Amino acid sequence: MKAIVGNNIYVDDAFRPGAILVEEGRIVEFVEKLPENYAGQIDQVADLYVMPGIVDTHVHINEPGRTDWEGFETATKAAAAGGITTVVDMPLNCLPVTTTVENFQTKLREVDGKLWVDTGFWGGVVPDSIDSLDELLGSGVLGVKSFTIDSGIPEFPEMTKADLERAMPIVARHQLPYLIHAELEDKTGNVKIDKKYQSFLDSRPRSWENNAIQMMLELCKKNHCRTHIVHLSSSDAIELINEAKSEGLPLTVETCPHYLTFHSENIEDGKTLFKCCPPIREKENCEKLWQGIKDGSLDFIVSDHSPCTAGLKKLEQGDFGEAWGGISSLQFSLPLVWTEAEQHGVNLNKLPKLLCQRTAEFIGLGDSKGRIQAGYDADFVIWDPNEDFVITAEMIQFKNKITPYEGRRLKGVVYATYLRGEKIVEKGQFTGPVATGKKLLRK
Ligand SMILES: [Zn+2]
Repeated sequence: MKAIVGNNIYVDDAFRPGAILVEEGRIVEFVEKLPENYAGQIDQVADLYVMPGIVDTHVHINEPGRTDWEGFETATKAAAAGGITTVVDMPLNCLPVTTTVENFQTKLREVDGKLWVDTGFWGGVVPDSIDSLDELLGSGVLGVKSFTIDSGIPEFPEMTKADLERAMPIVARHQLPYLIHAELEDKTGNVKIDKKYQSFLDSRPRSWENNAIQMMLELCKKNHCRTHIVHLSSSDAIELINEAKSEGLPLTVETCPHYLTFHSENIEDGKTLFKCCPPIREKENCEKLWQGIKDGSLDFIVSDHSPCTAGLKKLEQGDFGEAWGGISSLQFSLPLVWTEAEQHGVNLNKLPKLLCQRTAEFIGLGDSKGRIQAGYDADFVIWDPNEDFVITAEMIQFKNKITPYEGRRLKGVVYATYLRGEKIVEKGQFTGPVATGKKLLRK
């Protein structure tokens, strides 16, 4: 038996003093006071805050095939260092893409010994893989993802409305979430992209997201398929989302730290580190996304850690048309979200819902992860929300040490991460030589 004792432990929606008793990787119970005769190990965390380990359901790990971009070892180490104890890997930009059972098995063969945190996997659906989608959904993936627009990767082409009409009933039968990158291209984005950030922003207007979401809501309603909009950037769509939710459609929506932190007005020309799709928009849009977080229109926040090599970011040329899109941020989600949340008047008590609980429920693990409660996995992040630090390249654990957040001062320092009862990271150092994360495969 082990006890984690502190003054600020997140239980039943609030931080309170007490002790978490842990045995064999699980939480036995939370007690206000340790029993007099308690003889086990005590980890005293005093005034530090104890939250459930963060569950990040949107991470591009890119292994196998594009391991110069990222890999399971480096990505899961970055997660662990940031208090993230569960990640879910995206079906692109690895090679092969995870669109068939065979390709999924190829990926699973790569991960052994490399997982520092628990790791699940999304499958992918492309027009040519719809015929084998049923089989893929039964192979252990937690759900599937498609694009309604060019993904940038030729192996992962977009799905038309007709393709989605074929795929959605199959996904619905499995009662798994269907993740959608929702942008629909039309002439409105027909501008020449150059070194100006505004040219890139103009090339992917809000209407592309709004139109795609409108289409997905229609398909969601028709097919009774759990539909999840990834990385919402356009705040204009919140009204549509709320209407659909009030109708009872099985819809969830996520957004990401970069849309909640940066404003397009402040992005310097040529700074391609800020390129991602859909794009980071105006301050006014960002404020509305925060409003959506506060009123529950948006369900949770995930990193969309989407790395590539420095060369592909075209940092020297600074051309937004040429640069690869995607922002690397895994490891810093907690302080990134907290820093902005506090400034937007979001109470610290809300954070575990946005980062741990709802994401765990989303992937079907709402009864084992995302809460500090008897019977749950003893996954914890121990941190100080009042201490600040500056992101430096040296502290980054993910493979390519490039992020638009470098040099940024953030509030919230992670002191330790526990995975199933064992402390795996302490003050930025890994406590053991062995990766102890598990594959999370749907039974
Ligand atoms: Zn992504």
